[in-house]
Amino acid sequence: MPRPLRATIHLDSMQHNLARVRECTPGAKVWGVVKANAYGHGLERGMRGFAGADGLALIETENAVRLRELGWTRPVLLLEGIFDASDAPLLSKYNLNSAVHCLEQIAILEQASFERPIDAHLKMNTGMNRLGFRPDQFQAAWRRLRAIPAVREITLMTHFANADELEHPRLTVREQVRRFCTGADGIDGPRSLSNSGGVLHQAELDAELSNDWVRPGIMLYGGTPGGKAAADFGLLPTMTLSSEIIGVQEIVAGDNVGYGSRFQAEGPMRIGVVACGYADGYPRHAPHGGPVVVDGLRSTLVGRVSMDMLTVDLTHIPNAGVGSKVVLWGAGLPIDEVANAAGTIGYELMCALAPRVQVAEG
Ligand code: PLP
Repeated sequence: MPRPLRATIHLDSMQHNLARVRECTPGAKVWGVVKANAYGHGLERGMRGFAGADGLALIETENAVRLRELGWTRPVLLLEGIFDASDAPLLSKYNLNSAVHCLEQIAILEQASFERPIDAHLKMNTGMNRLGFRPDQFQAAWRRLRAIPAVREITLMTHFANADELEHPRLTVREQVRRFCTGADGIDGPRSLSNSGGVLHQAELDAELSNDWVRPGIMLYGGTPGGKAAADFGLLPTMTLSSEIIGVQEIVAGDNVGYGSRFQAEGPMRIGVVACGYADGYPRHAPHGGPVVVDGLRSTLVGRVSMDMLTVDLTHIPNAGVGSKVVLWGAGLPIDEVANAAGTIGYELMCALAPRVQVAEG
């Protein structure tokens, strides 16, 4: 018998969330972001779950090639472009659309020979200060890229730093859009600005923000960029991490639980031991009191998460025992709630799912 820990991927919820993206941004084409192994869901499942997307976007060149091998025929976008000159031929061989964010990448494309024309996303740094040309450098970069005979279509892109918080005190989406429009003034070409935060706030930003292509990631997986309640945005969880109680301890006042004896009981308690630990991707720093669901009822973490197990309070669930079902996150327990309690984000929990966890679909 395998360990009872399992991640169940809900392909129908992935389709549903994609439909929500389209409702939020009518008319825009959708890149389904499937980097990091489709946010931990598995590349191939990402491809099937987002079969209705107009294209798939990711970081890893080898996974872009894999998408082609798996039969994905619509556009594929490399969100960070190529990392090395040796990757340039792959762009035409596998028909990959490449982000271009620095002069070094333009120089590689100038030197490369391509068997077919390629498409590119020229990236503007509008305040995130991670990748891209500053607005005042953008036109010169565009002209240089435009002059490469093999380059066919150039989409203009930027990335939002705070799209989950429209009134961010340091850098707002509106300010990034303003910088983008200034930097791209007079240049024709499709535009791609919004991540999930931009998509979710499209209605408020409608007059200012227009996208030919949007690039949602986390909302396709039923999470929100700012840790808000995904259900309020009509999103469904796409990954449920579940396990079982594998042991029960009856303890009395003064007894301690787990490594470091961090928790001490004030009275009699029933402690359930769950087959899931930090080696499975559950956050070790999740606090005492963090949420779990046992046999459909809310309960809380007790003591420290260890490598293969965590402990929960069963005192108020007298019928729970060995074999009881435990939901760590997903259907019945929003991943953002677990992430918020652990001081992290849903993205990290999904991406950190360990290879040893069995994955099923359902
Ligand atoms: N576009 C780019 C360039 C990204 O790097 C990411 C993810 O970080 C996304 C889109 C998707 O972002 P999100 O998952 O917040 O929607």
